[in-house]
Amino acid sequence: MGSYSTSARLGVPSRIHHVAMVVQSIEASLGLYRDMLRLPLETVLDIPADRVRIAFLGVGESKVELVEPTDDTTGVARFLASKGEGFHHVCLEVADLAEELTRLAIDGVELIDSAPRRGAEGPVAFLHPRSCGGVLVELIEAPGGPSWAALKMAPRG
Ligand code: ZN
Repeated sequence: MGSYSTSARLGVPSRIHHVAMVVQSIEASLGLYRDMLRLPLETVLDIPADRVRIAFLGVGESKVELVEPTDDTTGVARFLASKGEGFHHVCLEVADLAEELTRLAIDGVELIDSAPRRGAEGPVAFLHPRSCGGVLVELIEAPGGPSWAALKMAPRG
């Protein structure tokens, strides 16, 4: 019970923000996700710091993220090389990311990012699949949360 006792004090995630797929080519993958599955394309962005291109397609209050490595040195590029295209991570939206990370660390969850960092859509942090049943989990802070100001980020749109 101990590992659940601190969890009850904080808010629960408010939604699945996005589910991410690794792809060889965003352009080629739009034939499936945009044209066949009919998800509206919202954005395509280069993220030079992470050496990826990403695209977001809308699905109600959630999104599908496509992640295309732009060189072969990154973890996501190695993932693509070894496992091929497919599911990569799920992203849950939380109200206060720094507070959640503190709670998770206390509860023994292995963090890839020990503090919020700038993501394409807001402050984010990743949790290690070793602590999450083999699934890579990303947390993103809802617009207006404390990490937006701390990282000097402004909501888009
Ligand atoms: Zn993501």
